[in-house]
Amino acid sequence: MATVTSYGAAQMVTGSCHLLEIGNIHILIDCGMFQGNADHKNIEPFGFNPKDIDFLILTHGHLDHIGRVPKLVKEGFNGIIVATKATIDIASIMLLDAAKIQNEEYKTLYKKAKRRGAEATVSEPLYDLDDVSDTFKRRRKPAYYNKKIKLTDTIFVTFKEAGHILGAAFIEVDYHDEGMQKRVVFSGDIGNKERIVIDGLVYGTKTNVLFVESTYGDRVHRDLDESIAEFRDAVIETTKRGGNVMIPSFALERTQEILILLKQMFEEGLLEACKVFLDSPLAIKATNLYKQHPKLLNEEHEINSILGNNPFAFDILKLTQTPSQSISINAVKRRAIIIAGSGMCTGGRILHHFKHRLWDEKNSLIFVGYQVGGTLGRKIVDGAEFVYVRGEKIAVKAKIYTINGFSAHGDREDIIDWIEHFEGLENIYLIHGEEDKAKIFRETIIERLHIKTHVVKEREHIHI
Ligand SMILES: [Zn+2]
Repeated sequence: MATVTSYGAAQMVTGSCHLLEIGNIHILIDCGMFQGNADHKNIEPFGFNPKDIDFLILTHGHLDHIGRVPKLVKEGFNGIIVATKATIDIASIMLLDAAKIQNEEYKTLYKKAKRRGAEATVSEPLYDLDDVSDTFKRRRKPAYYNKKIKLTDTIFVTFKEAGHILGAAFIEVDYHDEGMQKRVVFSGDIGNKERIVIDGLVYGTKTNVLFVESTYGDRVHRDLDESIAEFRDAVIETTKRGGNVMIPSFALERTQEILILLKQMFEEGLLEACKVFLDSPLAIKATNLYKQHPKLLNEEHEINSILGNNPFAFDILKLTQTPSQSISINAVKRRAIIIAGSGMCTGGRILHHFKHRLWDEKNSLIFVGYQVGGTLGRKIVDGAEFVYVRGEKIAVKAKIYTINGFSAHGDREDIIDWIEHFEGLENIYLIHGEEDKAKIFRETIIERLHIKTHVVKEREHIHI
């Protein structure tokens, strides 16, 4: 008998954490952080004993899939981590960054609370830098795409390209159940067949059961080519009138895609008198990682990399590492194109650029990624006329563009097409999607594919 229980990303898009129990073997698929409105859940107990976990499989390095791993280790996990090399590399920079941010926030809040005489009300950070370095001392099994990995005599896992971010995979788990050979697939985050930087999503072959993300199960994205055109128009329109462009960007994948697009525009002569700033130490580190894994890039960039050309560098691009380099961007009054974190404007250097440029109508703010409910980014996308940035009221006068076709998540049609390619699929379980979206997706799947589909609730035991 095998059971799956979701301890996160059930009727929501963050906190991915799914426990697969096969006999007495406990396999955890992802251990992500809750974000946005759900972030209070990070300090809650996991709901299972971390000491019981034999294997931790990581589908990819986004924080909402790996962000609670150091907490798992701190609370006694002593099993084996199974992930691609790129995912481990990404996890190490993302988790160090997350620990740093949490500890800085804690210190500030603690200081403020102490001044109020209420320090006991500030909750401690989830983990610190030592917990992160402990995490990477755990035993590991490296995963390569399409190679079966033996976990036990009867349990095997295979990682397949998810076309989501560098190193991302969906996972096929093969196991014996009462003498029968069975398979369950966990989608992780599913991307698209065509990607700007990395290789695209591949199809699975067969499975009995599928746990699949439903982030965009209710909608069809704008075509990637149309989104690229929209992005180019927004940049050209703004810089032609002498304005500046702010692009809040996720350090992973989206930043590298934007760099490639801006590089193409530069080579076509469309960015005359412009300066491009990559103003995020984390995104700079992430871009270096992409360079170190040329085999995972799509053909054009892989070949370029092998020829020694850096696919992410061009003459007008400046990498601003230090705070003083970042501040010096303020002196550029016209035609600055600034890529900065965080992707949902919940922190990071983008906030500092908001203070300097968001109130000026000649500038623009281009959203190229998903904005979770409760974040500052979502408020602006939803039409806020002013926002508070570190306590200061700032008017939103810059032109706002929301371009959603860059999504690293497939839309309804992409996921349905991907699901349709599995043979023998009997049961679909929807995870990683807001409740209303997952419900709409469930109805669509039942109507079009006639496969039993269920929206998973948190901590619901599902016998597969
Ligand atoms: Zn992801």
